[in-house]
Amino acid sequence: MDRRFLLQAWTLALISKARAAEPLPVVATFSILADMTRVIGGDDITVRTLVPVDGDAHAWEPKPADLRAVRAAAVLVQNGLGLEGWMARMPKAADFKGLLVTAARDVEPRLMTEDGKQVTDPHAWQDPRNGVLYVRAIADGLRGALPEAAARMTSRADAYISEIEVTDRFITEALAAIPAAKRIILTSHDAFGYYGARYGITLRAVQGISTEGEPSAKDIATLVAQIKREKIHAVFVENMTDPRLSAAVARESGAVLGPNVYSDALSPSGGPADTYLKMLRHNTQRFAEAMALN
Ligand SMILES: [Zn+2]
Repeated sequence: MDRRFLLQAWTLALISKARAAEPLPVVATFSILADMTRVIGGDDITVRTLVPVDGDAHAWEPKPADLRAVRAAAVLVQNGLGLEGWMARMPKAADFKGLLVTAARDVEPRLMTEDGKQVTDPHAWQDPRNGVLYVRAIADGLRGALPEAAARMTSRADAYISEIEVTDRFITEALAAIPAAKRIILTSHDAFGYYGARYGITLRAVQGISTEGEPSAKDIATLVAQIKREKIHAVFVENMTDPRLSAAVARESGAVLGPNVYSDALSPSGGPADTYLKMLRHNTQRFAEAMALN
């Protein structure tokens, strides 16, 4: 723990003591982190999400109300690994004075080559083992900011970690029947690299690591040829990406446009992926169904 962290934690402890039983105001950059943070913080905190459900965390811009919420927050939880490019300026613009928590703090980053450049894949939460690391990092931050609730944070975090581990085993079992030759998934943007690495699945994607790049006509032609050659059954569109490009790829390659999967944002409450754990299960079931038909 560095000195700056300790100082911030100490300042926050004084602030929170003065506030007594008021829940600690926490802001998370996007819905998946907000869900994790809520589970760990329980009634001891309130959580506001910046990028909403079904929203795109790569390309997002804060509105004045978001900056006000960040200014009032005691803790701001971000992913890191370059997901939220807009976080480079936003805390300063919002005059944020609380504790910044990087959920991916302890993650071993996955590097990829894109257009000849080496880039870091930010979608680490798609591997549940990284989800566990996220929970530990967020719990550390919340405990630092609200020491009097530390024991409760720890017990909620421990119970949550057990649930994530159960989900990881569920995924392994759900995919066990898929033969190696059929383990290929095609998604609209390249958000499932950590998932694929964890469960032995090859990923193809219409767009790259970020939703901000546009594939060229040549890229699309190469992808269409690859889909035909690899007999990929379905193109999956993530809830937060523009479906048009994927629909065109499906049309040209003869692949089926699959049901929505969830990569960078949860579904609205009551939807099929309104928590991190439900998202992992939903995606796995959809992928398993499609890969069986590859
Ligand atoms: Zn993404």
